[in-house]
Amino acid sequence: MAEHIRITRIRPTTVTVPLEAPLRHANGCHWGRFVRTIVEVDTDAGITGLGEMGGGGESAEAAFRGLERYLVGHDVFQLEALRFLIANPTASLYNNRTQYLAAIEFACLDIIGKALGQPVFNLLGGKLRDAVPFASYLFFRYPTDATRAGEVRTADQLVAHALALKAEHGFTSHKLKGGVFAPDYELACYRALAAALPGDSFRYDPNAALPLEDAIRFGRAIEDLKNDYYEDPVWGVNGLRQVRAAVRMPTATNTVVVDFEQLAANIRDPAVDVILLDTTFWGGIRPCLEAAAVCRTMQTGIAVHSSGELGIQLATMLHLGAVLPNLTFAGDAHYHHLGDDVIEGGKRQYRNGAMLVPEGPGLGVTLDPDRVARYAELYQKLGGYPYDRDPLRPDWYPLVPNTRWADPSDDRIPDLDP
Ligand SMILES: [Mg+2]
Repeated sequence: MAEHIRITRIRPTTVTVPLEAPLRHANGCHWGRFVRTIVEVDTDAGITGLGEMGGGGESAEAAFRGLERYLVGHDVFQLEALRFLIANPTASLYNNRTQYLAAIEFACLDIIGKALGQPVFNLLGGKLRDAVPFASYLFFRYPTDATRAGEVRTADQLVAHALALKAEHGFTSHKLKGGVFAPDYELACYRALAAALPGDSFRYDPNAALPLEDAIRFGRAIEDLKNDYYEDPVWGVNGLRQVRAAVRMPTATNTVVVDFEQLAANIRDPAVDVILLDTTFWGGIRPCLEAAAVCRTMQTGIAVHSSGELGIQLATMLHLGAVLPNLTFAGDAHYHHLGDDVIEGGKRQYRNGAMLVPEGPGLGVTLDPDRVARYAELYQKLGGYPYDRDPLRPDWYPLVPNTRWADPSDDRIPDLDP
């Protein structure tokens, strides 16, 4: 095998993959689809590595192509240098490329693994588990059409959806994405879930939308349940610290501890008990391992965060989850809301609430050219969507903290055709 494997080309492709139904959240909605950018990194060894990033379109594709002048000729084994080559922390004040770095790091690890004939988990210390457990990620969802298929708006619909997901995939932990309706309404929904799924555990994440007083009241009202943690009830470490002092359950975040400076600050003056590690937000799989080691030493909890993945990013989450000794919580994945994937064989399957870690060389996933072409075409047809807007409330935007909640009796069906 060559001593060096050098990058020769970066090929980004933005794709749109349909969701089962539009997913509602505190800032608006995923309008019935995910937009992701797939990155193929070619090398002089003839090996191509795969990366993935959220969002996309012309600007993401151009940004990745713009990285070629930094990265052509770079040796994929030089992962530590890669970080400083395109995302050193002071240069990043002017041009933050953390998420681009993550996609390139995924591809480099994929290339190294393929060159060595080893799965990525073997480059990261070796796996400690064969499958990574996941929570059911429950959203309020708009109906897709007049049949009302996919709709989750009432507590009864939410419970039915959770029971169906549990029956199909075996989840024993359940995450409710809230911040859509008023806190009392969502509290009733959360308690209905807990009543319908005895023995399972639960987590609530209103995406930092709640006023502090509501967050404390909500937290105290669920203290008797089997909660994994209370995720980003309010915005900011100072608000989270106050919730933590007032409510008897762990707090968690994927919003305000997303780099090493913030991690250090949180250890010196704790606001958050569980850090949700995101392979994109932290700049790759390896920075997540470093953060996990700090958390292990300081007895801070960790879990694996989902920023809305297709199969390549999902593979990074699985390889990460496989090697973490201190992974005591189920991970999060939006994955089961997807209608399809871009990888060979289509969507990966859950078994008993967990997903097997890919065993093939590198990330262990292969692009399906037909699916990539189909979903690249769909992106060209539909374009992006406004993540921070609600299709049925065109003049609305959320305040932080928010008080302008959606109306749960509003049963209109959004028209999502551009
Ligand atoms: Mg979250």
